[in-house]
Amino acid sequence: MSKLPPLGAHCSVAGGMPTAIARATSLGCTAAQVFVKNASQWRGRELTAEEVAAFRAAHAESAVGPLVAHASYLINLCSADPVLLARSREALADELSRCARLGVGGLVVHPGAHLGAGEEAGVERVAASLDAVLAALPGAPVRVLLENTAGQGSCLGHRLEHLEAIRARVAAPARVGVCLDTCHAFAAGYALHEKAGYEEMWAEFAARIGFAALGGMHLNDSLRPFGSRRDRHAHIGEGEIGLGAFARLLHDPRLAGVPMIIETETGEDLAGHRRDLETLRGLSRPASSRRGGSSSRRSRSPRTSAAGSSRSRPG
Ligand SMILES: [Zn+2]
Repeated sequence: MSKLPPLGAHCSVAGGMPTAIARATSLGCTAAQVFVKNASQWRGRELTAEEVAAFRAAHAESAVGPLVAHASYLINLCSADPVLLARSREALADELSRCARLGVGGLVVHPGAHLGAGEEAGVERVAASLDAVLAALPGAPVRVLLENTAGQGSCLGHRLEHLEAIRARVAAPARVGVCLDTCHAFAAGYALHEKAGYEEMWAEFAARIGFAALGGMHLNDSLRPFGSRRDRHAHIGEGEIGLGAFARLLHDPRLAGVPMIIETETGEDLAGHRRDLETLRGLSRPASSRRGGSSSRRSRSPRTSAAGSSRSRPG
């Protein structure tokens, strides 16, 4: 039995930042994702020195390993509106500073939506935004992690080419990594539910991005079918991706040190997260001949239909 990568969940910070560590601990997490401010507002409540110290102490005492944060949904690093663009850059800088104070190593952000300006122009603007923000925070120990997207609307990031192009244009690519979301990749047309498709996706990832830049993964099953370009998370093994892909991910030696975070339906008293993490921990290394997809799907629960229906969780 090989050792699993750091594995955890997106944990709520309701009641103060340190409560996220308590939630992660109760779930047996060895990694966690948090919000460092209210994700649906531009302005965040100021973090006090006491809250930061309590968070760091709780983390240090816990078995929770690497931490990542998910940035606000309002941020659009390629907005054509100069006011929104300036606000987005300011918000990203603020969140990076919060992460640095809290000891959070990576900040996951969606590349943004070009809203008709075109992919090329969008990529240029995202890179310029990252350069502006990172240049103003020279010593920040936090990596920006660009998340791949499902390809809804004009959102960039549904092709690995987009993430590659952004990283190729920034002044400090070592400060810009990637977070790969399984549901988004599947929805965008990467066939990770099949063994051959899984290997193809990672071969392309290695060529375009490189594993050193992989700062985190989001493990979510998908309610919507392959290539649907729709972002609806399902419980692990209850969606269209199936358990085979998750078994491959957890036992892939190339991903051994990568924090893996579920963003599925939390459920009452964290029961949904508990169940998904148990499912993942119980997956053994797949036989080389084993195929993913419907043959390895967990039986559906009635709660599956509610997954992904609200914005209480990160995307
Ligand atoms: Zn995600």
